[in-house]
Amino acid sequence: MTEPSLRGSLWLHDADLRRYRPLTASTRADVLVVGAGMTGLLTAARLADNGLDVVVVDAGPVGGRNTALSTGNLYAPVSRMADLVARWGGDTATRVVQWRQQAVRSIESLVHRYDLRCGFQRVTMQYGVQERSRDATAAFERELQAYQRVGLSCDHRQSGLPFALGHAFQIPDQAQLDPAAFCQELAQHLVGRVRVHDWTQIVDIDAAAGIARTPDCSIRARHFVLATHSPAGFNLVQAEMEVYREYAVAVPVRDMPAPGVHWIADRQRSLRGVRGTDGRHWLVLVGETHRTGETPATDPAQRLIDDAQRNFRVEGEPMCWSAQQFRSADQLPYIGGSAHDNVWVATGYGPDGLTWAGVAARMIAEGIQGSSNEMDGVLSPMRFTPVRSAAGWLRTNATVARHMVGDRLAAASAGTAQTLAPGCGALLAVDGKRTAVYRDDAGTLHAMSPLCPHLKCVVQWNGHERTWDCPCHGSRFSATGQLLEGPAKQGLTPQTL
Ligand SMILES: Cc1cc2nc3c(=O)[nH]c(=O)nc-3n(C[C@H](O)[C@H](O)[C@H](O)COP(=O)(O)OP(=O)(O)OC[C@H]3O[C@@H](n4cnc5c(N)ncnc54)[C@H](O)[C@@H]3O)c2cc1C
Repeated sequence: MTEPSLRGSLWLHDADLRRYRPLTASTRADVLVVGAGMTGLLTAARLADNGLDVVVVDAGPVGGRNTALSTGNLYAPVSRMADLVARWGGDTATRVVQWRQQAVRSIESLVHRYDLRCGFQRVTMQYGVQERSRDATAAFERELQAYQRVGLSCDHRQSGLPFALGHAFQIPDQAQLDPAAFCQELAQHLVGRVRVHDWTQIVDIDAAAGIARTPDCSIRARHFVLATHSPAGFNLVQAEMEVYREYAVAVPVRDMPAPGVHWIADRQRSLRGVRGTDGRHWLVLVGETHRTGETPATDPAQRLIDDAQRNFRVEGEPMCWSAQQFRSADQLPYIGGSAHDNVWVATGYGPDGLTWAGVAARMIAEGIQGSSNEMDGVLSPMRFTPVRSAAGWLRTNATVARHMVGDRLAAASAGTAQTLAPGCGALLAVDGKRTAVYRDDAGTLHAMSPLCPHLKCVVQWNGHERTWDCPCHGSRFSATGQLLEGPAKQGLTPQTL
């Protein structure tokens, strides 16, 4: 089934997704890359350049998951530069920005090398705040200083929006693309050097034996790259991460913003213009987030649409979508070797993952070739940074504890299955037992255990997306209980009413 949140993406709505053959017979390779998003494909491209025999598999279509749900912005800074400098120091933050600059350049060189038709263009990134209040000005100045500290050239200008910013600066030479088209085009050009299989899910990896399994067959490999976006199965890394939903809308408008990345920090809004294949002008607006499993009553997508209507001349129906965001405890992603020598991970990207994917590709490809690089110590998933992680750890584990204990003790809603409206779900008391109940549009009731199979937290109804979301580690399930994304490995257990 198609997950509701994936249907709306601007990049997917008229994309002609090429099909690759699912893997049906057992095979061997030097490297198995699990996941054909930005991370998996960039890594596969590097590994193939190094002469390795590479298989890429994806549980869904190529590039169809988080990569296709992004805004398509590539930039050297990270979100919250000032925090990065404060936490890691100016020198490390400078190196981080340089690795990200190199990553954008390597993506650009792939675009030119294969002539990828994905709308790649170099653009300016604008950082601004709308308010001129003391707080907004102080936060702006702090961020500006951090950008300058890491060597980014900041030009005090503002441009290209139909409303004035209180303060703004621009950073040249960042980039934008259509992320779904990039993946589709890159995969096509890799075929012949890399074996690509879509709709092929890895259900188990036995690292010691060097075998990965799908439901139908197995793949023997010397190395396994988990380019799966989520930290599936890596409990240490998982326990450190905060999981958020992030929402996006694309709205047809008469007046597009100027080309470029526009980040309005005090409003938590990132926006860009896109000329659609049908010639229409689209405004892509993102920035509404909430912890997974803690869905607000007001629809986050509607808040974005309201913003668009306030500031642009909207003419037509919006598209809305959303995706998961994994944030590490110390603001840097987890990229590199794991506790198993032959298993490589790339996760915890936060909101900046398209460029981190390029960093991950380089780091993992070099690691597999046996060369260590300066990124290892900083980004390694095995790092332990008690001071830098402290706040993140506390926040994450307090949230998990609150939901594990609090939600289990909480009473079920006072309603009954009979009063549940079509399209709605709720935790109800059924025969004295708390039960997750959903009534579909045809009126049929579906009942399930409310316990997430991962660590038995109680799932919560997300009425905007019609999903059951686990507040502890972010597993998500369809309204009828099928697994949409892990770390859980199976769906909610059906119950009778
Ligand atoms: C609204 C929004 C806007 C964003 N905008 C930006 C932006 O402008 N710039 C930016 O840098 N970042 C942005 N991001 C973040 C960015 O989208 C992600 O960090 C990035 O796409 C991650 O790429 P990935 O390849 O690691 O993951 P994905 O693209 O999710 O790829 C992982 C793949 O692994 C597959 N997979 C998972 N498990 C298995 C399995 N067991 N077997 C087989 N396959 C499996 C999945 O099907 C998927 O295709 C945004 C995020 C959101 C939500």
